[in-house]
Amino acid sequence: MTKEIVKKIATHINNKQFKYLCSSCSEFSYKNGKVRKYPKLIYHLHGSEGFLENRVENRSSHCKGEGEIEIYINDSTIRE
Ligand SMILES: [Zn+2]
Repeated sequence: MTKEIVKKIATHINNKQFKYLCSSCSEFSYKNGKVRKYPKLIYHLHGSEGFLENRVENRSSHCKGEGEIEIYINDSTIRE
């Protein structure tokens, strides 16, 4: 069975890598279901190959939460 491709927006990019917030690894609530005041945010990094332009990158996720992902580098992505 083919897994649905998950779409992500890169939050930051520089000459070496870009990163996106992983909703599978981040923790927004405690085990008892209570929402965290300060969520534990986990980002994953992928190589940018030196390009800062807007584009879509297809990658395999770094964690088991997601399979194939599309990472959008767009106008909201911060150039570092
Ligand atoms: Zn993850």
